[in-house]
Amino acid sequence: MTRRHCLGPSCTVLLPAPRAGGGRPRLYCSERCRSAHRRLAARIDRGLLNRAETADATEEALHRLRSAVYAVAAQARHTAHALDPQTAREPRDRLDGGPAANSTRAVLGLVEAAHTALAAAVEADRTAGSGWSAIGAALGISEDTAARRYQPR
Ligand SMILES: [Zn+2]
Repeated sequence: MTRRHCLGPSCTVLLPAPRAGGGRPRLYCSERCRSAHRRLAARIDRGLLNRAETADATEEALHRLRSAVYAVAAQARHTAHALDPQTAREPRDRLDGGPAANSTRAVLGLVEAAHTALAAAVEADRTAGSGWSAIGAALGISEDTAARRYQPR
């Protein structure tokens, strides 16, 4: 009959051979090894769970980023359309006698959409594990400035 080793982490005790018809074979040499093995298994499960949650969160953040980038594309088309003299609506009324800076107004919405996409990109990188120093380096700003500007509150 084959004898098994205790399942306790790094325990090398060889368990006694199970008796014929003696019910469930022992898996551990001691209560201590039994609880140590359970604790280790629970820790591994938690680790796998954390990794799965991180993967889910990363996928969701990437989805939000893609949506934000598509919103930029839609806003860009909208802006180009608004600036096209063939299709543009009548310019806004002049303010205090001068032109109302309609081109600037038109492009501002595009810039705002791009800022939203950039914030979503930072969030996606953060969720995937990038540190503020890497984010700052990508943006050409300091780690502290990046954290101040993009840290969710
Ligand atoms: Zn043991």
